[in-house]
Amino acid sequence: MLVSAKEMLNKAREGKYAVGQFNINNLEWTKAILLTAQECNSPVILGVSEGAGKYMCGYKTVVGMVKGMIEELNITVPVALHLDHGSFEGAKACINAGFSSVMFDGSHYSIEENIAKTTELVNACNVLGLSLEAEVGSIGGEEDGVIGAGECADPNECKMIADLGVTMLAAGIGNIHGKYPENWAGLSFETLAAVKEKVGDMPLVLHGGTGIPADMIKKAISLGVAKINVNTECQLAFQAATREYIEAGKDLSGKGFDPRKLLAPGFEAIKATVKEKMELFGSINKA
Ligand SMILES: [Zn+2]
Repeated sequence: MLVSAKEMLNKAREGKYAVGQFNINNLEWTKAILLTAQECNSPVILGVSEGAGKYMCGYKTVVGMVKGMIEELNITVPVALHLDHGSFEGAKACINAGFSSVMFDGSHYSIEENIAKTTELVNACNVLGLSLEAEVGSIGGEEDGVIGAGECADPNECKMIADLGVTMLAAGIGNIHGKYPENWAGLSFETLAAVKEKVGDMPLVLHGGTGIPADMIKKAISLGVAKINVNTECQLAFQAATREYIEAGKDLSGKGFDPRKLLAPGFEAIKATVKEKMELFGSINKA
């Protein structure tokens, strides 16, 4: 069964750990993350970007696959299926398709328009018992094809959006998507503390979790971050393991061409990455 992210994130905030959001791309990705969450007895959030949703043949296909897997693999830890960086239309489509959580990224609108659109979605999500993530201050890196720098959100704007009744809030604190550049300035804990002071108990979300040093992750969690998004790191792990398999010529020997063999090292690499993150975030045995 899919659950809203609300309860797992409130528990995480209180317990000073974070729940990982791992983005999915296909069956192998989904299976690897769900099995690892179960083995680690950890709550988990499966993230789906609009692009990945389209790639997997639409949101209904994703809901069918994830629900089927939860049942057939006997997954009993809490699992939320969450739209990542949704447009207003995308959020509504995921609500209709059966997602248990959505993110509406209105950070590129004016604060007034972000508030108006977020309010409409707060009402829809409340009626259905879904969790809703909002974003203030665009998070740098390549987000929906737009490249930005590590921006910092305005704490007053964060409070305006938090007060609408969203479940969790993503605020830019110098974090960026994808690989971090060598000259990255690091997270702005000053901004994070200022946002936290304004929004009180609301769980905060840290996007761009790939490559942030462990000590910064731990400090962010201590300052109210309860959800951390990981995407690129699983992709890099999958890519490296698949490259190694091919470069070793294993696809050329015996039945090594069988897709179930060809994709197995990448699958195991995703599992290892997810486990490592769950250990770092402190969510193991918190299901
Ligand atoms: Zn993001």
